[in-house]
Order: sequence, then C-alpha cells, then structure tokens
Amino acid sequence: MKQSLLFVPTLKDAPKDAEVKSHKIMSRAGLIKQVAAGIYTYLPLGYRVIRNIEKIIREELDKIGASEMLMPALQPSNLWEESGRWEQYGPELMRLKDRKDRDFCLGPTHEEIVTQSVRDYVNSYKKLPLVLYQIQTKFRDEMRPRFGLMRGREFIMKDAYTFTESYEDLDIWYKKFTDAYIKIFQRCGLDTKIVSSDVGQIGGDEADEFMVMSEVGEDTITYCRSCSYAANQEHSGLEVGDACPECGGTIAIAKGIEVGNIFKLGTKYSESMNANFVTKEGTQAPIIMGCYGLGISRTLMASVEQHSKDDSILWPKEIAPFDVHIIPINIKDDIQRETSLKIYTDLSSKGYEVLLDDREERAGSKFKDADLIGIQYRIIVGKDAKDAKIEFVDRSKEGKEVIEIENLAKYI
Ligand code: ATP
Ligand code: MG
Repeated sequence: MKQSLLFVPTLKDAPKDAEVKSHKIMSRAGLIKQVAAGIYTYLPLGYRVIRNIEKIIREELDKIGASEMLMPALQPSNLWEESGRWEQYGPELMRLKDRKDRDFCLGPTHEEIVTQSVRDYVNSYKKLPLVLYQIQTKFRDEMRPRFGLMRGREFIMKDAYTFTESYEDLDIWYKKFTDAYIKIFQRCGLDTKIVSSDVGQIGGDEADEFMVMSEVGEDTITYCRSCSYAANQEHSGLEVGDACPECGGTIAIAKGIEVGNIFKLGTKYSESMNANFVTKEGTQAPIIMGCYGLGISRTLMASVEQHSKDDSILWPKEIAPFDVHIIPINIKDDIQRETSLKIYTDLSSKGYEVLLDDREERAGSKFKDADLIGIQYRIIVGKDAKDAKIEFVDRSKEGKEVIEIENLAKYI
C-alpha cells in the first residue's frame, strides 16, 4: 500500500479525555476516531489490526471444529422474555421499538438467538454436539464507557456457544476453548492469566476469565504467590496477605484487563427456552450449553497498551497492520524512488504486506509517523541506494544495519 493513499489521520495531541496510554496513542496514530462516548470508528490502520485478530480467531476456532455463523444484532423482545432477561437485564440493554410499536433490543450477547437457532433442529443426541461462533458488533449502554475501546457501548466480540448432551462433553469443549484462547491471545502478543470468575448476568455453573495483567485494568485479581490459584476479587473476596485457599501460600493482588470470559451455562437457556432433545436412554432432557466470549476491540486495545511507549507502537508480528515499512529519505530523488518501488514490488509479490511512504514529507516527520504506525521492520532508502544498499531496522532490537539489497530476504 502506498502511504499517500492510506487514510491515517495522525494527531499531534491526544484527545483530552484519553486517560490511558493505549487510548492516547491509538488516537494519535490514526487507528480510531471517537464518534460519541463509547462509540468509535475503526480507521484503516486500526481496522487492519482488527481483521488480523479476527483471522487468528477464525484459524484457531476452525481448528477445534467450530462453525462460524452470523446472527442479527437486532433482536425481538419475545426471545428475551422467554429467557427472563428482558426484565432482568436493566439499563445496559439498548432497547428500541419498531414502527408497529413492537419491542426490540440491540444484542449485548446472543444466548437467546443462538438457542432459537438450534432448538427446532436438535431433537436427538445424534445431532449433538454443535459448536457455533460468530464475530459481531455488540451493544451495551455501559454506565461508564471509557479508555477508548476498552469499555465501549458498541464493540466487536467473538462469541461462541456449545450444545452438548452431557456435562462430560461440556467439560471437553470448555477445555478445547481454553486451549484455543491461550493460543489466540499469545498470537496477539498477550500473556493471559486464567482466573475463576463470577457467573454474573449470564448465569450458569462455572466461569473463567482471561486476564492481561495491566495497571490500567478495571478488574482486581487475587492470585497465589506459590501455586497457580487465581480468582477475580469479586468472586474470591480475598485480600493481600490472606492464605491461598488451595495451598495455604500468600495471596497477592494485581490489576487485569478482561479480554475473554468463558462460561459453563448448563441448562439455564435450554430449560427456559425449551431446547430439549431425546437422550441415548430415550428420555427428554434440556441441551447442556457453554458460551465463550472474546472481546476483539478490547484485545486490540490491550495489545497496544502492552506494546507501546508514549510516542511509538511496536506491533506483535501477527497482528501488525503491515509487515514492512519502506521509507525513502527523499522521494524526489530518482534512484531512491525507483529503489523503493522495486523493493516494494518485490516484497509484495512474495506475499508481504508492505507500506511505502511515498509522501513528499521531511524525513523527520516520516520517521515520527512511522514510530506511531509501529511496524517492526523498517527499510530506509537513502543516499546509499546508488550502491544498492539500504538501512534495515528491526525495531524489536537496538540499532540499524546497512545491508545490500540483494541480502534483504535474509533479514525479514
Ligand atoms: P466486563 O466485566 O468488563 O464488563 P463482561 O463480563 O460484561 O465484561 P462478557 O459479557 O463476558 O463481558 O463479554 C465477553 C468479552 O467481551 C469480555 O471478556 C470483554 O473482552 C468484552 N467486552 C465486554 N464488555 C465490553 C465493552 N463494554 N467494551 C469492549 N469490550 C467488552
Ligand atoms: Mg460488563
């Protein structure tokens, strides 16, 4: 992609309400633009990262055998009345009416809709398990939307649902999703801690959250200094210095960003919404459900929070908006321009996503923008281009190297 054609509205100063580093730099780097409180446009660079995160999710979930579908955001109230949540949900649910005065909501989550999708079809254990997911925009009228994409009122989520005939099968899928989540977050450059959590609004029997340890996290995690015990403080009620309920070790406390949340729902929705099947024994039973949420826009934000400084981002490889950034020092110089174009065409044809800064800007301001854009590999084409040499920078390391163009392949 030629940078002169890419819409990257970088800013000198972050918006006044941006409190955390990731929100500041994402606004300044031209990744997102606020429309209203908790509502954002994903600008081209930010959306490229979102799509990369989505690609990773699709790969890992398709690998475990989940099928992707897409449910509506606009949902009729009658399904929510069946589950009992039309009453329970409260002001976070975005409610609206159609022209005939019928009630609808904009989906904050999709248990009702997914249950409606499968209940007429699944009549026997022979049709189970079913493992479904979607990537979709969710709506929640959060009391305190803040920190950019961290807590939005409209945000992108991957939500998955399992339907099984037994709790043993639910456990198997719960474990598969746990393992897939660990991989997904690792590929997004995030180390996560799995903490047991409250089942809360969604209901069910057991739940775990995937937390990225970070000072700006809104959740408080209690964890053991000696064993792997970790729980959301809301769930455990433990304080610093308490004894670990599992090994007696010492409890410590840290802040975390919740990027994923998985639940063993059991039969809460299948019972209330009549999703039953005939078991191997020939009896009627409600289908056992699990649900698995992953905040895509929040994952983007958490990754920036972990991989940025005040004036620069360094994207983890797999989610970076581009693989390589080519910066000619002087685009008006024929040799520099042609050398840059040649490297650009060459790398692009090899399958790399390449960004070429073909703008007529001062080198200094190009470098400033490049630091914000945050691509790991940078190729600087300057005076040495006449001797078929360029400067190569791997931003994950110190320094830069002058190399022969023909050796470039070895470096990337
Ligand atoms: P929180 O406790 O942060 O409000 P939640 O328990 O309401 O989260 P879930 O309903 O389990 O979240 O949603 C699944 C995932 O969606 C969360 O783990 C999080 O990554 C993401 N998510 C939830 N609410 C928001 C929001 N307002 N903005 C962005 N992402 C969100
Ligand atoms: Mg919430």
